[in-house]
Amino acid sequence: MHILVLPGDGIGPEIMSAAMQVLSALDTRRDLGLSITHDIVGFDSLAKYATTLRPDLIERLPSQDGIILGPVDTAAYPEHEGGINVSAYLRSRLDLYANIRPARTPPGAARPFDLVIVRELTEGFYADRNMAEGNADLMATPDVAISLRKVTRHACERIARRAFELAMTRDRRVTAVHKANVFKRGDGLFLDAVRTVAREFPEVTLDDVLVDAMAAWLVRAPERFDVIVTGNLYGDILSDLASELSGSLGLAGSIMAGDSLCAAQAQHGSAPDIAGQDKANPASMILSVALLLEWLGAHRARPDLTTAARAMTTALDHVLANPDTRTADLGGPLGTTAFGEAVTLAVLAG
Ligand code: ATP
Repeated sequence: MHILVLPGDGIGPEIMSAAMQVLSALDTRRDLGLSITHDIVGFDSLAKYATTLRPDLIERLPSQDGIILGPVDTAAYPEHEGGINVSAYLRSRLDLYANIRPARTPPGAARPFDLVIVRELTEGFYADRNMAEGNADLMATPDVAISLRKVTRHACERIARRAFELAMTRDRRVTAVHKANVFKRGDGLFLDAVRTVAREFPEVTLDDVLVDAMAAWLVRAPERFDVIVTGNLYGDILSDLASELSGSLGLAGSIMAGDSLCAAQAQHGSAPDIAGQDKANPASMILSVALLLEWLGAHRARPDLTTAARAMTTALDHVLANPDTRTADLGGPLGTTAFGEAVTLAVLAG
């Protein structure tokens, strides 16, 4: 099982180091036979190779079973001098189209909830993946900008299918989030595609909510939702909201999955404000790795990886359940390294 680790920018190296300590312990304890290699992307790569993503590394990506990517500070990359958006490359060129973003309160929360946002990643308002050439975020005149969105039935149906499949393993409820009252065609097509796919899953209940109402619903009653399926931009915004409501962005695990390759990447960004200070919560990265193992368990017929993923999540929950072993974002005393060590001990004891 070949896993490529790319720590990324900002807090990336710190949270990756904690997550890798946990993964190595799990690998040893359960004899998973993982073959883990490390490489660099982002600013480290830019400094060394004048590009944030080298061509020879690009060539190696498709032959991996899984990729573990840290947060990347794309907004700060130079636009024309080697500044390749690593996340976008994986999403569009390797067709990692399904972003699975759970938002789950830690054990003991006063108001528990457990939902998953399933977000489409290859089109929508993201201008860098809308056109065969060029970019759909345009300046018509120096004072007039035009941003175009692409929505295809193919992409809407396959993301809906992933959401319904996921719901079948959970509470069998899907909520489609859209703005079809305004975008009658773009969001109308999305909604129509979701309803079409729903017919393949008669055991799953489908409802739909406007994206603005959804923001209010998430604050008012997040426990109402099971699986939420939505487009690229709405999903990005709502998943930050849901994660912060669950306690912290630092809890927010995420995978970007295609049909034959999957990448783990925490939901949050590179958080330059706390980088290098041992303050970041690595739970998001650890959970993302657990989600990747679960995906590999299902897609490579390796039930031992599915069991290992659950053991990793249980160990993480065990550490999060104790307020004295939480990181600062959750009001606890631990730094990034100490939190990683606590989860590692829990994995070894499990
Ligand atoms: P991007 O645009 O790349 O998503 P961003 O700048 O919008 O990134 P983040 O980097 O996600 O935002 O950070 C938003 C806030 O959340 C920051 O104040 C940061 O300190 C905090 N934060 C993000 N990740 C973590 C983490 N793992 N642990 C603790 N705090 C975090």
